[in-house]
Amino acid sequence: MKALIVASALTLVGSCATLSHTEKLQKIKDNIVFTDANIINNYAQTITSAELNTHVYKFSSDEFQGRRAGEPGHHKAANYIKDYYVKEGITSPLGSNNYYQIVPESFFSDDIKSSPNVIAYIEGSVYPDEVLIISGHSDHEGFTENDIYNGADDNGSGTAAMLEMAQAFKKAENDGFPPKRSIVFLHFTGEEVDLTGSRYYTKYPIFPLHNTIANLNIDMIGRVDDTHEDNPNYIYLIGSERLSTELHYISESANKNFAKLELDYRLNSDSDPNQYYSRSDHYNFAQQGIPVIFYFSGTHDDYHEPTDTAEKINYPLLRKRTVLIFATAWYIANNEKRIEVDQDS
Ligand SMILES: [Zn+2]
Repeated sequence: MKALIVASALTLVGSCATLSHTEKLQKIKDNIVFTDANIINNYAQTITSAELNTHVYKFSSDEFQGRRAGEPGHHKAANYIKDYYVKEGITSPLGSNNYYQIVPESFFSDDIKSSPNVIAYIEGSVYPDEVLIISGHSDHEGFTENDIYNGADDNGSGTAAMLEMAQAFKKAENDGFPPKRSIVFLHFTGEEVDLTGSRYYTKYPIFPLHNTIANLNIDMIGRVDDTHEDNPNYIYLIGSERLSTELHYISESANKNFAKLELDYRLNSDSDPNQYYSRSDHYNFAQQGIPVIFYFSGTHDDYHEPTDTAEKINYPLLRKRTVLIFATAWYIANNEKRIEVDQDS
């Protein structure tokens, strides 16, 4: 008899706890409302397949020699990014014409020469000290005697997405819709060399990490993998719920309202053998307790091969994925309150 009472009590406690968790989630979801939907849509329209195409073709052209960190081809690529921000009137937090955070040769573990992270930003109009970082790496594998590793997907696709989003946010600011929080565009060097650029940034941050509210990191979002051959309207999200339940639901809502992709979480599983959560630059932010989302469309036969070239990118799909990130960023930057960290890992 006693055992049964205990069991009932446990059942009761269990169901109460479950209910309150469900209620808590519902409250988080209910609080996420895209009040600026028309405005977001207007500026999302300025992100075009044609411009993404132009950036990817240029960024993965032979001219940049595979963008190996520390080599002349990567310096050229960094300069292309910098020139773009100058042309668009998007300034650097480092002041004047200085868009480079130089990662010194001594910080690289391999035999790599000094190489820049490129940084630009749009200052927040209400909470300028609170910072959202949108990132992607600019480096790749370089070249050999016979081949150039053009890296169109890895990471021409993410770089193009960043440049288009920056332009859209700048246009919105010019039209009287500045972000409430600061949005930083951070192009890391040395991702292909042990995530060195992001390791350096999180060790010597330009904005204090305790006010860095989230990191949306983009690495390879231009292709369709074998798993999705028949249903290419997807993107893999990794990490979205690990530190902030709210971030996860903001992303879900942004997708429902603006992108309508299938959000595929299978690579976010702890048991996934690829362990992608620790394999790109966002990981260095996550380790500091900063909520992250890693955007990724999966690997393919051309991954880290000289055949990762611009004509293989699906540009309309790259556009849709960019719009998802743009809408998510817009919400995080403009919501009345800073996103909440409520998880441990
Ligand atoms: Zn990459």
